[in-house]
Amino acid sequence: MKIVFHPRMRESYDSTPAGAPGRLNTAIASFQNNPDYQLIMPDYAPEEDLLRAHEQCVLERAKAEDSSSTTKHVYEMAALAVGGAILTAKLAAMGEPAFGLIRPPGHHASARSYWGFCYFNNMAVALLHLRSKHLIKSAFILDFDLHVGDGTIDILGRDKDFHIYNPHAHGDSSYLADVKNALDGCPSVDMIAASAGFDEYEHCWGHNLSTEAFRKIGQLMNDFAQSQCDGRRFGLLEGGYNHQDLGKNVLAFCEGLQGR
Ligand SMILES: [Zn+2]
Repeated sequence: MKIVFHPRMRESYDSTPAGAPGRLNTAIASFQNNPDYQLIMPDYAPEEDLLRAHEQCVLERAKAEDSSSTTKHVYEMAALAVGGAILTAKLAAMGEPAFGLIRPPGHHASARSYWGFCYFNNMAVALLHLRSKHLIKSAFILDFDLHVGDGTIDILGRDKDFHIYNPHAHGDSSYLADVKNALDGCPSVDMIAASAGFDEYEHCWGHNLSTEAFRKIGQLMNDFAQSQCDGRRFGLLEGGYNHQDLGKNVLAFCEGLQGR
């Protein structure tokens, strides 16, 4: 399975928990020198792609962040994350499972604004890219981050081709039942994508899900993709702030996404 990652993702670009030094280290270690995974590098997303989801003012605001004292290269880093999301989604469009090990995250970035450690909406730009290239017409977005992806809802929520679901339940079994129920009720789509936040983890902010729950979410997505959309499935990293355990949680999700 391909993991989309760029060495610059190691850089700390702002003072938020998402941009913290070392945050991705255990996740990178899970995939490096692991024969089941291949790391591949994305390009920076061009403005043309960003403007499918955002108004120009959002790009200008991100560029202006670069002159602030607590951030550096924010525009570049956010454009690189979007480039990673597009590459991940393109792999999935060919029926290959893929995961974007990217930051900054994106699901709190709206058409005209951003907040919550996000700048550009990685997921929305990637799906709109695929649709503009006629690679998909529709998609289901499972946002299992602790927080509601208000940016994704702002950009794609009124579009009849996109279906967005944020599960909310306490404990593995209730949460997984909620996910299963949402997938069972989903109309026919061409692709399933996860805004994969790991802050619902039992030893992170949400104090909720086990590592095995992330594996089972991946498995449910795999089952859905195999039966409904020719195996087209991917995930993009959103939140997740337990640096020590992020690696095993991301790995469990990716194994599940491969049906393991
Ligand atoms: Zn979150």
